[in-house]
Amino acid sequence: MENRCRHCHNIFLPNRWIKDQQYCRHPKCQKARKALWQKQKMHQDPDYKANQKDSWENWRKRNPDYWKNYRQQHLQYLERNRLLQRVRNSKRCFAGIAKMDTLTPCFSYKPGLYTLVPSIAKMDALAQKVFIIPALTSKASDCKRGLDRL
Ligand SMILES: [Zn+2]
Repeated sequence: MENRCRHCHNIFLPNRWIKDQQYCRHPKCQKARKALWQKQKMHQDPDYKANQKDSWENWRKRNPDYWKNYRQQHLQYLERNRLLQRVRNSKRCFAGIAKMDTLTPCFSYKPGLYTLVPSIAKMDALAQKVFIIPALTSKASDCKRGLDRL
């Protein structure tokens, strides 16, 4: 009897020793299966979560320059993170509006180059939230300030 993989959606022959096998043997699918298992375990098992946190912190202490080096070697990762941080900043800004006077915007739009970022969580919704993020500049100080400078 064949099953359909929950990750790649291909049909596969399950291993007869694995009860209710839902993922094929492909490494990407096995990685997805493990990631889902770990995500669920982190929510359900506080001891597991604490052990994972300790393990991660110990690794971080042994490899203090890992992320600094990673960011230097992966500029796309760095740019993506900066863009996502700007999205988070703009969400915070919009959240602040609800608590303040609704007629007072927290920033004004200036003419210029902007990046439109759709809200990923609601990709199937008819109406999309669009956050207006100022385009990245070459000055690092501008990137750090984000939307505050508008
Ligand atoms: Zn698969």
